[in-house]
Amino acid sequence: MDAFWTQPDFDEHELVQFVRDPASGLTAIIALHSTHLGPGAGGTRFWHYAMPSDAMRDALRLSRGMSYKNAMAGLPVGGGKAVILADAARTKSPAMLAAFGDAIEALSGRYVTAEDVGMSEADMVAIAARTQHVTGLPAEGGGSAGGDPGPFTAIGIYLGIKAAVAWTLGRDSMQGVHVAVQGTGSVGGGVARLLAQDSAKLTLADIDGARAKALAGELGAEAVPANAIMDVACDVFSPNALGAILDDAGIARLQAPIVAGAANNQLARDGHGAALAARGVLYAPDYVINAGGIISVTLEYLARRTGEHCELAEVHRRLAEIPERLTRIWNEARSSGLSPDAVADAMAQKLIGR
Ligand code: NAD
Repeated sequence: MDAFWTQPDFDEHELVQFVRDPASGLTAIIALHSTHLGPGAGGTRFWHYAMPSDAMRDALRLSRGMSYKNAMAGLPVGGGKAVILADAARTKSPAMLAAFGDAIEALSGRYVTAEDVGMSEADMVAIAARTQHVTGLPAEGGGSAGGDPGPFTAIGIYLGIKAAVAWTLGRDSMQGVHVAVQGTGSVGGGVARLLAQDSAKLTLADIDGARAKALAGELGAEAVPANAIMDVACDVFSPNALGAILDDAGIARLQAPIVAGAANNQLARDGHGAALAARGVLYAPDYVINAGGIISVTLEYLARRTGEHCELAEVHRRLAEIPERLTRIWNEARSSGLSPDAVADAMAQKLIGR
């Protein structure tokens, strides 16, 4: 493999640090894309990668995504991301988390971490024993911000779906609106529950079929096999599982006028945003609609740094800005002829001074 800074995913990242601690078995990469707006904030992914170059690619792409996400969410933080390269058995130990916390502390606050795939609130508590630059810690009491970002991301997706339905279908109520949810984990499951409260019609799928079926039973929804969810004729397709699902084949399969969900990097390539628009599909740029979790953990972090209390109500006020932001992007896309992802990228790049 060529040097990482010659790879297509390298985007003038400010710092890419390789972390190794043989005693605990820790191998990690911490990538800071931009600290133009503040410390690089973004979660840590714990994942078994087939190739080390896949881990580097994830760190580069995801940290850039965090720069865009945080800027668009109006947060005073830049973009960073860490990946811990797990072994095939996904062995995680207290010593590994301690060594990882030390590596974050050594960056003196230039990078702030939180949960991502494979990392839990308990892991953040373990890391917090070694560094202050960690968030997504348990809330200190009722009414305080804090904890697992997943439920906050779900609220942002739910609000974004409602905005997309209002914008595209002219409907103010979700009653009877058909939403196909791909992935019924932390975020997708939360979105489905919120939509069920509004009497939306739900079709659910998960690669863990029993999980989708159980939730469908609870919510009075239908469950379909994971490989069938993109073919469901519906009003909204909500991807909450994997990235890169919107490629040529995926876009051709869609039977929905709206795509709005939490998965990161949904577009396989930049041109796929224009391909969706050409098919008349309204796309909610992933890093704009899925910012609920980072909004929560960043407000929690900033409050802790200044010794203040961050009210949950303030998090909800900021979550309510997500649908307004999406509507601005869609309006701008309509007037400029650009696709919504291109409009969002241009806005984000301007905000981070690129
Ligand atoms: P999760 O692990 O809790 O849930 C993901 C679910 O998707 C699991 O139930 C899994 O079985 C299922 N899944 C995996 N592959 C699938 C497939 N091919 N088809 C159908 N289902 C499949 O993860 P999460 O926290 O709910 O996150 C979901 C997505 O949203 C991820 O892409 C994540 O990066 C993104 N995201 C999450 C947050 C957050 O706050 N948790 C924030 C921003 C973005």
